[in-house]
This record gives sequence, structure tokens and C-alpha cells, in this order.
Amino acid sequence: MIAQEVKKEDLDPFDIAVKQLEKAAKVIKLDKQALELLKEPQQILQVRIPVKMDNGETKVFTGFRVHYNNARGPVKGGIRFHPEENLSTVKALSAWMTWKTAIVDIPLGGAKGGVICDTKKMSAGELERLSRGYIRAIGEFVGPEVDIPAPDVYTTPQIMAWMMDEYEMIVRKSAPGMITGKPIELGGSLGRGDATARGGMFVLREAAKKNNIDLSKAKVAVQGFGNAGQFAVRLIQEMFGSKVVAVSDTKGGIYLESGIKYKDLMDYKAKNGTVSGFPGSKKISNEELLELGVDVLVPAAIENQLTAANADKVKAKIILELANGPTTPDADEIFYKKGIILLPDFLANSGGVTVSYFEWAQDISGYFWSEEEVYKRLDEKLTKATKEVLDTSKNLKIDTRTAAYTISIKRVADAMKLRGWY
Ligand code: GLU
Repeated sequence: MIAQEVKKEDLDPFDIAVKQLEKAAKVIKLDKQALELLKEPQQILQVRIPVKMDNGETKVFTGFRVHYNNARGPVKGGIRFHPEENLSTVKALSAWMTWKTAIVDIPLGGAKGGVICDTKKMSAGELERLSRGYIRAIGEFVGPEVDIPAPDVYTTPQIMAWMMDEYEMIVRKSAPGMITGKPIELGGSLGRGDATARGGMFVLREAAKKNNIDLSKAKVAVQGFGNAGQFAVRLIQEMFGSKVVAVSDTKGGIYLESGIKYKDLMDYKAKNGTVSGFPGSKKISNEELLELGVDVLVPAAIENQLTAANADKVKAKIILELANGPTTPDADEIFYKKGIILLPDFLANSGGVTVSYFEWAQDISGYFWSEEEVYKRLDEKLTKATKEVLDTSKNLKIDTRTAAYTISIKRVADAMKLRGWY
């Protein structure tokens, strides 16, 4: 197939989320009324947040919080601070959170939040005031039994700490279970920091095992160097001895045939603010990184990276989607035809929310687990979910994303049915 031109309307995140849902609904002949309920979020809140900036002026930010579905429990999902944040993206991410909590079978629904802002241009004080303002604005929408936020792109444990503090000021009581991804000192869980990447490693290990792929000989490319990407670079070398030959961030990518050492790269990034220019490496673009002749490709940045325009040029045997929504439906079809093993986002990156669930459970019970305990339970959850997805894909002869959808939507639909919603 020849690379196709991609139209802007084909990249609308929520349209994509609905398309994916409808494809899977057809496979399992989902009840029409259940589908109707699952095609839109339950609640959408849009807020305006006035923030005193360091120069004395007030700037007004726009924020969102979307509750997609709470049939299986309180809704859960991160808060993204991004200059291009918009409602369609937040809606899509909240839908994907619903399928994510369902695929690992934890008793939570799906939500997502976002604020349109550029954190790279804000001081720590401005960020703190924005974070507190966001919680004041959505205060009644969240809570440990209602909606439990967490970090996402450009939000951090420190931001979670400010948000928890603001919430506790409002409700006048301790409520560590209102948000996850907190610092350990404030009720965070051991193992939450690298949970998204670690969970992804368990998913990758199972998929490689099933397909007789030796990860110790694998070459790897990682797109994105945020929380998911950074830890993926480290863990894939540590756990399997794979060789990471390419990495990128927003400023571009680097390629090093002999392999990129995690520690050296982290030292370099700390000094230079980017991976670009890493000693000995060749400069490549983010697009080129996706088309390298590697065994494992790890998109760990943002949506819509693998589309009809480049899917045919992807050479990887396995794609491990640590980002949310990196692949469009057209690209999915191309990968399925090419026999590429795609490990879909809401399975591959579900380690983050799984340990968030552990954090919430620990906060509520007031009893904290060891790191080994967290890793062991994470491994159990993700190994089981991965086996279910791969078996379903094989048995029903459908692509892995659709297979994962069939499992998740059935779980959510069953909960809605028992509640008498249809
Ligand atoms: N933002 C992460 C995700 O997309 C984590 C969500 C959470 O921990 O609640 O899965």
C-alpha cells in the first residue's frame, strides 16, 4: 500500500475513540442501548481559572474534567497540562481510561482532565496557583468516592501534592485518596513513579513469549522522553537486556547503533534539557525514529503519531503503545495486515492506573505495601490482562486493539446492565 494523505478530520481524538468502540461493539453484537450509553461521556465540566501571574497580571486559563463512565466504580484518570489541550482530546482520553480500568479489572471507571497552558513558560509559583485554582474550580466534581485524578503529560507528583492540599483545605479533613501519583511522603505508593513503563514491560514480556521473540537480542526505539519513555529506556535494558538504539523528545531524536546507556542519557538530559546532541549519536527526526529497522517500537509521547501516512513504513515486529492514542484506525489496519504485534495503549500503559489503584487502596486503608508487593500485584494484573487480549485476538481473528475493546466494553456493559441502565 502507498502512504496515504491524512486529513485533519481523520485525526480528531474523540472521533477515533468512537470509531474504535463501534468496531468492537459490532464484533460482540453489543446491545444497541448499551452502545448508545457508551458513545458519550456521562458528564463534562469546563471551567475558567484566574491565576495571578508573577508580573502582577491575572491570566485566565481554561480547564476541563470529563467523567466518561462510572458503572464499575468511581471514575479515574489523569490531568494533562498542555498548550494544545482541547475538549475532544480530554473526552477521548476519558473514554480510553474507562477501557483501561476495565481491561485490568480494577473497580474504577474512566475520567480525564486537562488545562490549556504551557508549563515550560510558567514559574513554580504560577504552576502552584494554577493547580490549586483548578481544584477549586472542579472541587465538587472530584473526591475519593467520586473521581480520583492523577498525573498525565506535564503534571507531576508535586502538582498532585498541591492539588491534594487544596482539596483538603476545602473539605477540612484528610483525604489522601482523592488523588494519586502523590509523593511517597504524602501517601503516594512505592512503585508508582515507573509504573506505566514497568507495566508495559510485563505486557511486552508476555507478548514476546507467546511469539517466540528473544528480547535480549532486540533493538528498540522509544519516542518521547517523559515519565513513560524515560523509564521504558531504563527498564527494557535492565529487565531484558534489549538494546535501545533511538530515543526522542519534543526537540527531535537521536540514533546510536551501539546502544544508548540510560544513565549517561539522563545525565546529558539534566545538563542540556534535551536528548538532542547526545555524544556519539546521529541526529534523527521524530518521524524517522518511527520508521527505523528495530524489533520493538515504543511510542511514548502523544496521540496520532502512527497514521496512514507512515504505517506502511514501520519495520518493527512489536509496537508497545505507552502513549495514549498514538495509532489511528487506518494505521491499525495496516499493522494488522502486516502481522505487526500491536500492544494497544489501554493495555500497554495500564500499569500507571493499576498502581494508582493500589495507591488509592493503600490511602483508604491507611496501610502501605512494600515495593515488592506492588510489583508482584502489578505483574499479576498485567500478565492476566495481556493473556486475555492475545487469546481473544487469536480466537476471534481480530486485531489486538479490537480484542481488548471487546473485553473492556463487555465488562462495562455488564455493570450497566446490573445497575438497570438498559
Ligand atoms: N494518566 C495516566 C494514564 O493515562 C494515569 C492515570 C491514573 O493513574 O489515574 O493512564
